[in-house]
Amino acid sequence: MAKYIMALDQGTTSSRCILFDHTTHIASLAQREYPQYYPHPGWVEHDPMEIWSSQFAVAAEAMAQVGASAEDIAAIGITNQRETTILWDRATGKPVSNAIVWQCRRTADRIGRLSGEETAMIREKTGLIPDAYFSASKIEWILDHTDGARERAERGELAFGNVDAWLMWNLTRGRVHATDYTNACRTMLYNIHTLSWDEDLLKLFRVPASLLPEVHPSGTLFGSTDRSVLGGEIPIAGAAGDQQAALFGQCCFTPGEVKNTYGTGGFLLMHTGNEAVLSGKGLLTTMAATTDKEAPEYALEGSVFVAGSVIQWLRDEMKLIGTASESEQIADEVDDTAGVYIVPAFTGMGAPYWNPYARGTVVGLTRGCRRAHFVRAALESIAFQSMDVIRAMEEDAGTPITSLKVDGGASANNLLMKFQADLMNTVCRRPKCIETTALGAAYLAGLTVGFWKDREEIAKGWQLGREFVPDMNETLREKRLSEWKRAVRAALAYADGEQ
Ligand code: ADP
Repeated sequence: MAKYIMALDQGTTSSRCILFDHTTHIASLAQREYPQYYPHPGWVEHDPMEIWSSQFAVAAEAMAQVGASAEDIAAIGITNQRETTILWDRATGKPVSNAIVWQCRRTADRIGRLSGEETAMIREKTGLIPDAYFSASKIEWILDHTDGARERAERGELAFGNVDAWLMWNLTRGRVHATDYTNACRTMLYNIHTLSWDEDLLKLFRVPASLLPEVHPSGTLFGSTDRSVLGGEIPIAGAAGDQQAALFGQCCFTPGEVKNTYGTGGFLLMHTGNEAVLSGKGLLTTMAATTDKEAPEYALEGSVFVAGSVIQWLRDEMKLIGTASESEQIADEVDDTAGVYIVPAFTGMGAPYWNPYARGTVVGLTRGCRRAHFVRAALESIAFQSMDVIRAMEEDAGTPITSLKVDGGASANNLLMKFQADLMNTVCRRPKCIETTALGAAYLAGLTVGFWKDREEIAKGWQLGREFVPDMNETLREKRLSEWKRAVRAALAYADGEQ
């Protein structure tokens, strides 16, 4: 009987592979970074062959670490950086260009030229706020700027995929061209209500339908690996975009459950059940991961652009700390920030403010402010920004959030987690396994092939690492929240002067 589920976690800066056993214990983990290309300011590319070769290498390495053969792997689940766009030749499997990465801003002008009517249509059909971030304008760009690509696409010779589809194509040696709901819904071409590629959107972005992969639920039998790849035919039984995989890995299955991933940025997702809730607060409506045994489910998503990266900034640019984890110990030297607030709007402000001109702002400095106050204010800014998104979600959903599951690199910071609980006046729960993204992909694959029985079984296995219980009094909480709002207003007022 196969012992492991293999999770392929293809991220923006590295490819990872984790083998989970039945108790979700990590049996082996391999990771490899791969190159980033910045051909012009604001442009970001990856080489699709480097994505594949690094992902393939870590899969082989993770198997070798525990002496596993293909027969020991019950199934593969894929999770991936979302929106990143790859076009390749169906006959040769060769990419026609580099991948355009989600962060790439090259099509911002194109998106800026959409009419009000087109924007409203996109919003209604896809649940997204039009942006260069999503795949649609990236596909259009590759077709328009690669010699012969549009003609070849019209003749049906090319295939489009996000990173999940690209990996599947390579794992199956071109037998499978498919994706899942959670990736499809980030292309800005997929109708999340009718569950189909949308003809109006394909026309708007001039994308031939022949390019597109088949779309399935995240947990389904997509196909099997070709024998030549990992030495056997392993079922590929799960695929989901990283944030939806994390939501699944945190076992947020019921409406109102929320997870926050504190990585470079912050990603909050609230499960909204079978209902696609359209936001009035600038949040995105997105599909949640499901297996083929369930009806489609949805989530509300809000992001904080600068979360853990404000700590990187303290370390790398301001030189105030030596390591990210040291931020906790230094912030703990003081009881408060001495009235200092940092609004780290380095690249503008997202939900619910949506001001691209805002920039980082520090308010409340006095002569007594020292390093520890400043570091504490930076940490607190991560929680304050998350709080703004949480409030927006509560208003959209019409219900208060009663607990928050946390993960990601900066969730290791106990001071930050306690402060988040205090601000929300709600318990924050950090699981033992904070590899929730990979775990979500593993769960999807494992449920599909019967390695795990059902959601109840895996939810029972969710193990609490540490719980953060709020104890801040109401008056102080209100004071801190209203001071944060004033700090944000100061940042926005400064931005107003620039316009
Ligand atoms: P990503 O997946 O986006 O690369 P990770 O989940 O690996 O991010 O988290 C890395 C981020 O978390 C970095 O920005 C880092 O500054 C921050 N970070 C890591 N450990 C801590 C810590 N103990 N306290 C605060 N921030 C931290």
